[in-house]
Amino acid sequence: MSTPSNNVHEAAAQGDVTFLSSNRQLLNLQNDRGWTPLHFAARYGQTETVRFLVAEKVDTKLVNSEGKTAAKVARFWGFEEVAKILDAEQESSVTTPGTQEVATATINRGRFSENYQNFFAGGKLNRFGFLRTENAYLTRTLTSPTSRFLLLSNGRPLFDTTQPPATIAWLSYPDIADIIGNPYQEEAIPAPLGEGKDEFIIVFLGVLEENGEGPDSGPAYWVVDVSPRGSLEDKMTALEKNLSERKFDFVEPRPKAFKLETGDAAILAQARAMVDWNYRNQYCPACGRRTVSMDAGHKRTCPPDEEAPAGSVEAKKKVTPPCKSKGVQNFSYPRTDPVVIVCVVHPTEDKVLLGRQKTWPKGMYSALAGFIEAGESMEEAVRREVKEEAGIVIGNVAYHSSQPWPFPNSLMIGCLAEAVTDIIKLEDKELEEARWFTRPQVIEALSQSKLPFEAQSSALIRMPPETAIAHQLVKTWALEKEWSGAGVLAK
Ligand SMILES: [Zn+2]
Repeated sequence: MSTPSNNVHEAAAQGDVTFLSSNRQLLNLQNDRGWTPLHFAARYGQTETVRFLVAEKVDTKLVNSEGKTAAKVARFWGFEEVAKILDAEQESSVTTPGTQEVATATINRGRFSENYQNFFAGGKLNRFGFLRTENAYLTRTLTSPTSRFLLLSNGRPLFDTTQPPATIAWLSYPDIADIIGNPYQEEAIPAPLGEGKDEFIIVFLGVLEENGEGPDSGPAYWVVDVSPRGSLEDKMTALEKNLSERKFDFVEPRPKAFKLETGDAAILAQARAMVDWNYRNQYCPACGRRTVSMDAGHKRTCPPDEEAPAGSVEAKKKVTPPCKSKGVQNFSYPRTDPVVIVCVVHPTEDKVLLGRQKTWPKGMYSALAGFIEAGESMEEAVRREVKEEAGIVIGNVAYHSSQPWPFPNSLMIGCLAEAVTDIIKLEDKELEEARWFTRPQVIEALSQSKLPFEAQSSALIRMPPETAIAHQLVKTWALEKEWSGAGVLAK
């Protein structure tokens, strides 16, 4: 038995204008999947019914549960004429005076699909970049009882091991005051790393605005690197021992970090990348002298007034360092390395290309990936990588989403791309194997990736877990979800 709501939907699908005109009060009715009569008329290319519904002033902006307007549905099913009628209707509604707000909503819903947020993104901190040079603010926040400190030791975050599966052990200022003191006192610029007492890395990450807005509306978050080395080695080692007695331990971030709560994972991603960058930039790349941390850990500079070290080649020759000429100082800023990662769709659209590296666990396959090179667009990097790694020629490339990847400081830029050839040839030998996989194979692999690795069947292919962007890219294709950009499947 069909209910009245199904009747208007069926009527629209069948082009039964007579039935629709005697049920005018139901013309905007949405079924359980959000479909209106207009969606059904659009889906089945009922041009006259669409004209009728538009003349009846039905809401052409309504979207179904997949976020699709009737115009989008029509276009997807190849009913271009219907799509054009609906486009024209939307445009005329945009230019009607007094409907500015509605018009904006229409544009947004029509042209932009919702962004997908990957794991390690979605941080809740307001970074307050403009306060990084305010020593008074930094001093006050650093020593505030509400401030929270994440500790890293050789890249390993401090976790509270009494709280499985993974919980950051947030410390407060008194826990580490003995080591860090206050590097922002008065006009003090923190001394270079490795120079006596200031041999640590500290970075201001931002504020969690729990009570309203502003830099004082919640706890400030910091990361401190306490890797035991140099003159602070003994203190750092003692600290680690004390913490261990509280069941706080430094743990390898992989795989545990992937079990963190989203907000904490984003903080860890930021913290890890910042500490790693500070550590790797202790020396000026132009003159080799030690650099100084500035802007609460977000900038390093070659001290402009410092003499070349006594006995060095520069000192002997009285050479001016290259970074000191004409008032130019050598600053360096945190680095993010862009990587493209791509789900390659077969020309027939029923298979995707996945590859595996020799070192990966048995049966593991993933999306192809590689660093973007200088002078290369994202799309070009996708085409080059796929050609080099698998010998496949790529046509159009669509952007999907991105993922911070703090191992140590990459940004994974996720794409879907259409293959225009299908013969695989491993040109650069970076992969051990690359293969086309069908939709059922991929769906099976995606679902078993939810199981712990040991529980997965080695008879099936294995895929990265859902916290990895590769998983999301392949899932988007496998479930025929939409993605933003000029998608290859949206044609
Ligand atoms: Zn220099």
